[in-house]
Amino acid sequence: MSTPKTLFQKIADREIPAEFVYEDEICFVIRDINPQAPTHLLVIPKRRIPRVGESTPEDAATLGHLLVTAGKIARELQLTEGFRLVINNGPHGGETVPHLHVHLLGGRPLAWPPG
Ligand code: AMP
Repeated sequence: MSTPKTLFQKIADREIPAEFVYEDEICFVIRDINPQAPTHLLVIPKRRIPRVGESTPEDAATLGHLLVTAGKIARELQLTEGFRLVINNGPHGGETVPHLHVHLLGGRPLAWPPG
């Protein structure tokens, strides 16, 4: 039996609606349904990597592509004052969807350290 699709695989396959900002053959970018900043996007690989803690050397190109894409989108959205990329990993990291994704947050000053 095949593994059930994750929420983000269902969004990628247009089985669940989302607001797409960008898409290519490796990843897609959607608006977070519960935004924590004026700009809150999710950069998501189409091929499921559960989380950074389970990534392998074979994932290196995909992980690099997510960051390059985040930078490109941030430039396009003119987040010239800065932005933050976040990857939550596991329960203590605040991960709720077990399909790796990069949060792109911007449009307001962001506090440090995070909660
Ligand atoms: P994380 O908690 O790091 O796993 O991030 C999961 C993110 O997915 C959260 O910020 C949620 O608000 C977001 N999210 C959950 N369901 C949806 C959805 N249907 N469309 C867009 N974003 C979602």
